[in-house]
Amino acid sequence: MHAEIIAIGDELTSGQRLDTNSRWLSQQLGDLGIQTARHTTIGDSLSDNVEALQRAVARAEVVVCTGGLGPTLDDLTRQAMADAFQLPLELDQESLDKIVAMFASRNREMPENNRVQAMFPRGSQIVPNPHGSAPGIDLQVAAPQQARTGESPGNVNRSCRVFALPGVPAEMRQMWLETVAPRLELLLGSQLGRLHYHAVKVFGIGESDVEVKLPQLIARQRTPTVGITVSRATITLRVAGRATDAATFQHQIAPTLGEIESALGDLVFGAGDDELEHVVARNLKQQGRTLACVEVGAASWISDWLLKVDEPQCRCFAGGVAFPNRSAAERWLEREPAAESKTITSGCGEMENASETLEDERWTAIARLAAERFGAELALVVGVYPSVKEMECTNGTFDFVFALATSTTVHLERRAMGGHPDVLGPRVAKTGLDIVRRYLANEGLTRNGLANNGQ
Ligand code: AMP
Ligand code: MG
Repeated sequence: MHAEIIAIGDELTSGQRLDTNSRWLSQQLGDLGIQTARHTTIGDSLSDNVEALQRAVARAEVVVCTGGLGPTLDDLTRQAMADAFQLPLELDQESLDKIVAMFASRNREMPENNRVQAMFPRGSQIVPNPHGSAPGIDLQVAAPQQARTGESPGNVNRSCRVFALPGVPAEMRQMWLETVAPRLELLLGSQLGRLHYHAVKVFGIGESDVEVKLPQLIARQRTPTVGITVSRATITLRVAGRATDAATFQHQIAPTLGEIESALGDLVFGAGDDELEHVVARNLKQQGRTLACVEVGAASWISDWLLKVDEPQCRCFAGGVAFPNRSAAERWLEREPAAESKTITSGCGEMENASETLEDERWTAIARLAAERFGAELALVVGVYPSVKEMECTNGTFDFVFALATSTTVHLERRAMGGHPDVLGPRVAKTGLDIVRRYLANEGLTRNGLANNGQ
């Protein structure tokens, strides 16, 4: 089953207002298992509306319109539906009474214009609007068959369900959740079950590399389906399937999750809404440890994220400090009494070029100082975040340093990374958090005696 969304209003086509309704509606349709094939945005023109409706019902099984249900002359959706499907507009007395009563409750008389909001194309069901004057329209229409490219024509006597909702986002959302979604669920048939989702979160690998490792999983015809999206260097594998309940769904997807885990191993860091900071905070809490963080350069992503996820009573984030550049961080070091020397080890991931240069010693000392000053068992140092200007001036890569001070040692790691300015900063910060996550995972195992096999 496919849907199309038609967003209506001059304020949208003129660029004065962003069409956020279509995005929200597509997500809601997706949750019901209905894929949105097309978004159309049109101004307040009757002929354009009629044409858009006729085209959409010829292609889709569900059409959702938003906007144009108000009482003014530029609100044309109900007239467009009547014209497009050659149906007369009829007054619904109950709706009119409600509109009159709504005005009366606000000590106002209903303007004559609002009467039109109680008019519906013949055969419509009403979609109640608890907080506004414009009820929505729910109309089933016979639709000519028009197969989408690559699909064979199905039932010739097909029909299309058309919903018209107001443009005001809050009213539209409430009407969708309370009336439209339950009606669509009925239409879909309860025997198939609802669409369920499980998200697997991955970090430390590119989107196309995931596809290479899991070619058969991303295939579109597969059940359950696995979709891949990437946001600020975090990859989400979205496993979706129909099931009557959550337990059946978990059972259905178990082999798929097994395949993902065996192909990606510990690149998988979490599930659902997890981001790396949630996982790190959770593991710190479980192990009763605290983390401090020093970020050097034009950002302080990690401190920001940890401040947001750390529960006040938990306080696994001991504190953070940001320096605009390396010399500012080094001045901090110079003001402090020299910390005793400890060895640098290569305990984390791919360690490159960990020679004990003066620079490495300084980063190491900064990590140890942070742990000491914040009274934390672990301290992470990340540097140096380039400024947006620096990133824009060069298409090249930058060298980053990650230092993790633990109670016994300091792990130092260097990585070269590049990318779009919007992504590079978060990727660098996530790389730092991932180093902490991996350390905690190994430590957790060691503490439980599971990984203590002499390595
Ligand atoms: P209407 O229902 O067309 O009278 O729209 C009422 C108001 O809702 C408009 O003035 C916009 O501010 C807002 N609106 C309409 N359509 C959308 C949309 N697609 N996305 C976000 N806001 C919208
Ligand atoms: Mg409008």
